[in-house]
Amino acid sequence: MVAVHTFNRLSLDVRGSFLQNQQTKPGQNYNKSHPVTIAAPVKRENMDADLVPVEAEELTRCPDDPPLLVGPLRIEFSDPITLDFVRAENPKLSEGGRYKPSECIALQKVAIIIPFRKREDHLRFWLYYLHPILQRQQLDYGVYIINQDGDEVFNRAKLLNIGYTEALKEYDYDCFVFSDVDLIPLDDRNIYKCFSQPRHLSVSMDKFGFRLPYNQYFGGVSSMSKEQFLKINGFPNNYWGWGGEDDDIYNRLSSRGMRISRPSGEIGKCRMIRHQRDERNEPNPQRFDRIAHTRDTMNSDGINSLSYRVVRVEKDILYTKIVVDVGKPHH
Ligand code: BGC
Repeated sequence: MVAVHTFNRLSLDVRGSFLQNQQTKPGQNYNKSHPVTIAAPVKRENMDADLVPVEAEELTRCPDDPPLLVGPLRIEFSDPITLDFVRAENPKLSEGGRYKPSECIALQKVAIIIPFRKREDHLRFWLYYLHPILQRQQLDYGVYIINQDGDEVFNRAKLLNIGYTEALKEYDYDCFVFSDVDLIPLDDRNIYKCFSQPRHLSVSMDKFGFRLPYNQYFGGVSSMSKEQFLKINGFPNNYWGWGGEDDDIYNRLSSRGMRISRPSGEIGKCRMIRHQRDERNEPNPQRFDRIAHTRDTMNSDGINSLSYRVVRVEKDILYTKIVVDVGKPHH
């Protein structure tokens, strides 16, 4: 891939890595098993046309096994964390919770979508733990908090559809990770990217005794490529309240001939932040009936029937928060 660097914020980041890599002699790699060479120019997003190209270099693809991973992590929720602290800990982020590695070309462009309402304390922990992990995973990523406005019953799957749509308006993402705000991986080898089959990432949660509650379980954290997502017409828009929407998504995948890919139980361990059940998210009594009819409803209810209104977009260095009006259930 050939292009040119200019002096904008992104290229400064790249320059940093260039200088660092210049200290390495030719033939010497920063990681023996995953050589990254610097040679010719690479195209960057947001290039300012009027700026003069200042240097040329070549980055190669990031390795399949990111060399910076550390494995098992210590995750605790006892000490409160401030957003300013998390901002200071993550100097390489750019506005909207965006990052891309400067040392190599990321294998995937990943939008992380988090359905959200009134869980600020959980969000701080999520940002504190996940940003460094995602950077070690060498992903080109952005964090999207999709905040349901008002006090109507919560609609997780519709928020996920909205996140998919809104993220694609900003950048050419090829992979979508759908994560609850209260789930933190216990091992950074659980890579938040997409696979040849839809991926379930939160496979051993402390809440379920570090096991799958049932084989078809697809809740918590999952990932899908754009292609996989479109093949199932996205997610259902009419599951209001707690439960069932993840089972509906599983039904969609299996009815389209896809299988679930998962990391091992060891690598897929994760911790849930304990909490009371949210207000306006009571178990949905219609869920059993709905998941019995996924095959009949999925072609007309999904990304092709999504409607909502963006109320407000907040850009922080740690995230893009999109406040949305999702409407209300039809009775
Ligand atoms: C619900 C799912 C939920 C799972 C685990 C199922 O009964 O339908 O939405 O994720 O239980 O709690």
